[in-house]
Amino acid sequence: MSKTYRSIRGMHDILPAAVSDWQQLERVSQSLLEGYGFQEIRMPLLERTEVFTRAIGQATDVVEKEMYSFEDRNGDSLSLRPEGTAGVVRAALQNGLLYGPVERLWYRGPMFRHERPQQGRTRQFHQIGAEIFGAAGPDVDAELLALGERLWRALGLQGIRLELNSLGNAEERANYRQALVQYMARHQSSLDEDTARRLERNPLRVLDSKLPAVQELLLDAPVLGDFLGAESRDHFDGLRERLDRLGISYHVNPRLVRGLDYYCHTVFEWVTTELGAQGTICAGGRYDGLIALQGGKPWPATGFAMGMERLVALMTQGQEAKPRAMHAYLVLAGDAAQLEGPVIAERIRDAAPGLRLQTNAGAGSFKAQFKRADRSGAALALVLGEDELAAGTMAIKFLRQERPQETVALDQLGTWIRDWFQGTK
Ligand code: ATP
Ligand code: MG
Repeated sequence: MSKTYRSIRGMHDILPAAVSDWQQLERVSQSLLEGYGFQEIRMPLLERTEVFTRAIGQATDVVEKEMYSFEDRNGDSLSLRPEGTAGVVRAALQNGLLYGPVERLWYRGPMFRHERPQQGRTRQFHQIGAEIFGAAGPDVDAELLALGERLWRALGLQGIRLELNSLGNAEERANYRQALVQYMARHQSSLDEDTARRLERNPLRVLDSKLPAVQELLLDAPVLGDFLGAESRDHFDGLRERLDRLGISYHVNPRLVRGLDYYCHTVFEWVTTELGAQGTICAGGRYDGLIALQGGKPWPATGFAMGMERLVALMTQGQEAKPRAMHAYLVLAGDAAQLEGPVIAERIRDAAPGLRLQTNAGAGSFKAQFKRADRSGAALALVLGEDELAAGTMAIKFLRQERPQETVALDQLGTWIRDWFQGTK
């Protein structure tokens, strides 16, 4: 026997038992996004590598070590998308979606990052993202947060905290960066190699270092908020005022920065303590600088991306995953019933759209077929044997209820099933 294959490390199958939770997340999020005026956009999974290196920045984990990049047969360097925003911006520029009225776009799908796989961190993962183009004020930032909170509520998730910070504008950040580097330089001797390297390549990334020694050093470091000018402070105050009015609570975290370089003003993360170390379920902020980086005229932009694996994990905590149950199972005994069964099944499907009906495949004894019916989770067994066929009827057995069997004429069956499905029988 030749060997069987396994999926690539960090890339997982989502099996039927889990899919209904994914579909629920997809349904609920889509309906909310539409309710806030967002339109879906679908981009290719592959882009030119530059689309990401320029947008995300060379000195980020994603570009430095996480991208799946390769040369295609033409010698072009392509990458599997590690995130959605760069591709949305590329698509919006290419297709003339910018520079008019405010444009609200959302996307959903797989992303790829070569990270160390662990709980809540995979190499193929999935995001739902939303972006708003053409609105510079804190009003839309607040709206994105209202959408987030409504989504957690709609999914029944609790204990999710909003962390918020302002990164100011590029100049303010540059001043702050300098002050931070100077401060850290005074403690040069106590810095580990990785921190020293971050400090050189992308100093703000030192702020989200997980190392206790670095965290302690940062306690006395200059704070970004002190470097904000009047305009940036107004933006941040405006956002907080709106959140207060909307009744959305938040925690200002002065060390919150994003691994990606194109953010300005608002940055935020929705976090939970229920998932262990990988507690950020949604992250985003304003990125007014990105569109110019991608070759367009400057244009304001703000958005977020959420990790679907982490959301599904939260939604299903302590629950056993189960495949979706059938409503009815059609038991067919004898050759004539097996020939007639599929015709009747189609009539039932005409009468009751949405009903999950499984027809027995491959004959089998009554006993075997009833076993399969039970395993399918069906509430009804519809039984067509020789006797029923001769009488022009169907026997209906209730598999999950103490309720006497019924006999229904075949020409009444569609109506009967429809009424039962609608809950009136
Ligand atoms: P982290 O600090 O967890 O690495 P990040 O800053 O790299 O996150 P973003 O690029 O902001 O993450 O992506 C937004 C969201 O996508 C994250 O908050 C998370 O929920 C999810 N996500 C990111 N990377 C992964 C991954 N490798 N596996 C599963 N989910 C992920
Ligand atoms: Mg990451």
